[in-house]
Amino acid sequence: MSAKIISGVEIAKAIREELTVVVTELKDKHNVVPGLVTILVGENPASVSYVTAKSKTAKALGIYSEQVDLPADTSEEKLLALIDQYNNDEKINGILVQLPLPKHINEAKVLYAIDPNKDVDGFHPVNVGKMVLGEQCFLPCTPHGILEMLERSGVETSGKEVVVLGRSNIVGKPIANLMLQKRPSGNATVTLCHTRTKDTDFHTRRADIIIAAVGVPNLVKANQVKDGVVIIDVGVNRIGMSESGKAILAGDVDFNEVKEKASFITPVPGGVGPMTITMLMKNTVQAAKQAAGLI
Ligand code: NAP
Repeated sequence: MSAKIISGVEIAKAIREELTVVVTELKDKHNVVPGLVTILVGENPASVSYVTAKSKTAKALGIYSEQVDLPADTSEEKLLALIDQYNNDEKINGILVQLPLPKHINEAKVLYAIDPNKDVDGFHPVNVGKMVLGEQCFLPCTPHGILEMLERSGVETSGKEVVVLGRSNIVGKPIANLMLQKRPSGNATVTLCHTRTKDTDFHTRRADIIIAAVGVPNLVKANQVKDGVVIIDVGVNRIGMSESGKAILAGDVDFNEVKEKASFITPVPGGVGPMTITMLMKNTVQAAKQAAGLI
């Protein structure tokens, strides 16, 4: 058996088309233009490309976009003052501070300074708390994208055994939490594995759905999964350079091996990655609607 490929590129395209319609309607009917600011401190190449892609996508959808690039030695006070300025800027509905921040800046302090109503990354404790309680909030973008991919691919999650590999605050913990909730793409029985898990293979071998977010290239092999498993591969690992100087990427799952056993699998690149940026746009549109009292 060869797995069906869940294309993040195609699903993201469909969601962006839906968002374009909503953005046009918001402007035409309510004179509302969603606004997003991306703030980058320093010149980490991966962060530069993420921030550029976010601004470009926002503009393509008709979202008002500002991009602030600050030098690596920007003080914490200056960054906090800038966030305060955007918290009070009516044109801006979403504030995104690109992580990681330079070591001299306290990341938590910065994220907590963002108005929870403009926290389109879904990292503020108010939004994290609401997410855990199953209340309306901004869901973190990568887990939100995974839920959409499962739902739009027709993958049943109710009653399934889901094994999440990795316990980061941005992927592992939130996706594990969301999938056990009473919600679409939820109602699963969830196990979360990390480096202290005694027998990870025991868990992956009995999993109906594996979500891998560990950052170790090709970690999950065919002999560690059962026939018909659904694989969501979040990992983005740079494993070399092509002759043209482009990074060669691999996921956390050995795609070539595991696709022969899986029923569904996401590729890297072209899987979860495009969904993350798209869900940021979806959250920004939601923030604009909330600010305008439309939801
Ligand atoms: P992270 O902060 O890098 O942490 C990695 C997690 O994996 C930790 O919880 C670690 O356990 C666990 N881990 C490492 N080796 C393991 C192993 N052999 N078995 C089981 N667990 C293991 O995680 P992250 O930020 O979620 O990133 C994970 C990967 O996803 C990276 O490749 C990242 O680039 C990618 N990513 C992609 C997107 C996207 O949009 N596609 C978004 C976010 C992240 P301990 O806690 O015990 O150390």
